[in-house]
Amino acid sequence: MADPSLYLGADVGGTFTKIVLIDHDGRVLSKETISSRGFSRKPVFAARLEEAVGRLCERAGRRRRDLIAVGVGVPGPVDFGRGLVMSLTNIRGWTRFPLVRFLRRRLRVPVFVENDANCMALAESRRGAARGYAYALCVTLGTGVGGGLILDNKVYRGPLFLGGEVGHIPVGEKGPSCSCGGAGCLERFVGNAALAARARRTFEKGLTLEEISARARAGDRRARKFWQEAGTLIGRALAGVVHTCGPEVIVIGGGVAAAGRVLLDAAAASLRRHAMNQIKGRVKVRKALLGNDAGMIGAALLAKEQMSL
Ligand SMILES: [Zn+2]
Repeated sequence: MADPSLYLGADVGGTFTKIVLIDHDGRVLSKETISSRGFSRKPVFAARLEEAVGRLCERAGRRRRDLIAVGVGVPGPVDFGRGLVMSLTNIRGWTRFPLVRFLRRRLRVPVFVENDANCMALAESRRGAARGYAYALCVTLGTGVGGGLILDNKVYRGPLFLGGEVGHIPVGEKGPSCSCGGAGCLERFVGNAALAARARRTFEKGLTLEEISARARAGDRRARKFWQEAGTLIGRALAGVVHTCGPEVIVIGGGVAAAGRVLLDAAAASLRRHAMNQIKGRVKVRKALLGNDAGMIGAALLAKEQMSL
């Protein structure tokens, strides 16, 4: 008889939380998106998650008692070993929150918590654009610029909980200062807010990043240049990571990656220019395959893999 084991993954965002139920083979059985409203009150969060477990099992025609473990991804630094959310900027009250202990008591199954970019990296590594590569870097471009590093097939976290934080690689000599406490961070140049500000300076009023992407795809030169500049900066920052950790593939995802080839090609060209001869052109730059689902799928896969260690 087939293994009935089930694993749940939740990708907790400031506005929405995406939840998925997978089976023993990692197949998606059912998924849903719920509002994150009220999650500052932790019992509300636990109750919503428990309700979602019930609904997703029912919709998949599976039994709640076959749920083996739960993985939760959050947009902030995590102490994975101790199951602590260190801090979140977009959900109040989750500072040094022992999420694992808290949820475990309520859901009555093992729980794991992980940074959301690391979850995305794990998903792309197992099921997406980095599949088959033991060393990969995944970058997610959005409001924040996150990153996850897969080394020897494992998520690299590091003792300071910031492994793969490529968004805070400094690229600006004189700033601007960053909410992280650093200055000149990549995120301050290619995060949504920075790109939107640059769009306002470059294009007519009210043009969104999506519209600039559409124009670039249609061949508009100014729009292409806009994304090429962003890609060039990203590629230069990534060259630093490549020379430190030696990933074979770099996967770029997140909303901004919708700009498509023009951004990826510029990043790849910039990476090639800054790379040592022996690796020039050998590091692949790919678009993420799993889109917005990567975080929740990664969280579920994390739970599954942790249970089979
Ligand atoms: Zn920063």
